[in-house]
Amino acid sequence: MSHLFSNYARWPINIVKGEGNYLFDDQGKKYLDLVSGIAVTSLGNIPPQVKAKISEQLDTLWHCSNLFNIPQQEELATKLTSISCADRVFFCNSGAEANEAAIKLARKYGNEKGKYEIITFEQSFHGRTLATLTATGQEKVKIGFSPLPEGFKTIPYNDIEALKEAIGDKTCAIMLEMVQGEGGVHPADPAWVEVITEQCQQHGLLLIVDEVQTGIGRTGKWFAHQHYGIEPDIITMAKGLGSGFPIGAMMAKEFLADTFGPGTHGTTFGGNPLAMAAGLATLEAIEAYLPEVEEKGAYFMEKLGGRGKGLMIGVEFDFEVGPIVTKLREEEGILALVAGPKVLRILPPFTITQQEMEMAVEKILQVVQAHKGAVELC
Ligand SMILES: *Cc1c(COP(=O)(O)O)cnc(C)c1O
Repeated sequence: MSHLFSNYARWPINIVKGEGNYLFDDQGKKYLDLVSGIAVTSLGNIPPQVKAKISEQLDTLWHCSNLFNIPQQEELATKLTSISCADRVFFCNSGAEANEAAIKLARKYGNEKGKYEIITFEQSFHGRTLATLTATGQEKVKIGFSPLPEGFKTIPYNDIEALKEAIGDKTCAIMLEMVQGEGGVHPADPAWVEVITEQCQQHGLLLIVDEVQTGIGRTGKWFAHQHYGIEPDIITMAKGLGSGFPIGAMMAKEFLADTFGPGTHGTTFGGNPLAMAAGLATLEAIEAYLPEVEEKGAYFMEKLGGRGKGLMIGVEFDFEVGPIVTKLREEEGILALVAGPKVLRILPPFTITQQEMEMAVEKILQVVQAHKGAVELC
């Protein structure tokens, strides 16, 4: 009997080791990893530069309360603000926490003017805390958890009219992903994004971009919103920031600095020196890969006929793709995942080689062809 909750529908393999672009199970079977821990291990497993920096920190200081100055936080914040339009950073431990911080910051900012409502979008995913699951535009994550916090309005993605209609005198912010990850790998339409920024300006709304999955180079730029030439007021990130070490961050423009004054928000573990070391080393190592991410993504996109940006790729079929993911894992030793029932999703490490890409594409196409053939015979 398992002593774990059954909240995850887990795959029936025990992963015990990671090395570069490969994972190994307890039977010694080797898998090419096109999942990257869901956009986490972008530099592959145990990247040496990150390992070195964490190891050094392991010998120096593990934990320090936020009652004290933590110099590594300043260092990572300086780096993050230098690669984005933001000026201030709050460190936490996960994507949900980063979004929770963003929601609190937006509410606090709107509070004086009596504004609290945040507009979010259908098929979005923002996390599993009560506020972030309420912000999430998927009914399935909300079932059984009511009463949910008030002040969220969810409308269709990429729909200009719906957006204009939804903004009211209580609206304080709009929160979105530039490429919806969990919801099917849907990129935002540039014309719609332009209207969002116009509306934010016109109505004095904060623009929150959830870069938890898209950030830290996943789409070929540091942040996905940089493809659109926009400057969000608040940006959240987590997954790819620590190469697997738990870390999240919420950052914002200078005019929001005083909104999070002393005592307004905090965390025990957020920004601890080990996580900061992981973040610093990850950012240093990823920089060189950014041009490759676009090229490698374009290769997959062309060969597989997918959509997305950079190495965040979804391929939509007119049948359920669960069996394809299983076959790839069991028969070909390739790990891929789904984003909704009919979308095959891959999030390869940036370190994937040309040879590995060619092999992966060939196997994916083979498995898809065989599955299609079998479906048609039925
Ligand atoms: C994964 C994800 C989250 C939640 O991050 P956790 O670290 O699992 O809390 C939030 N937003 C997006 C876009 C994500 O992909």
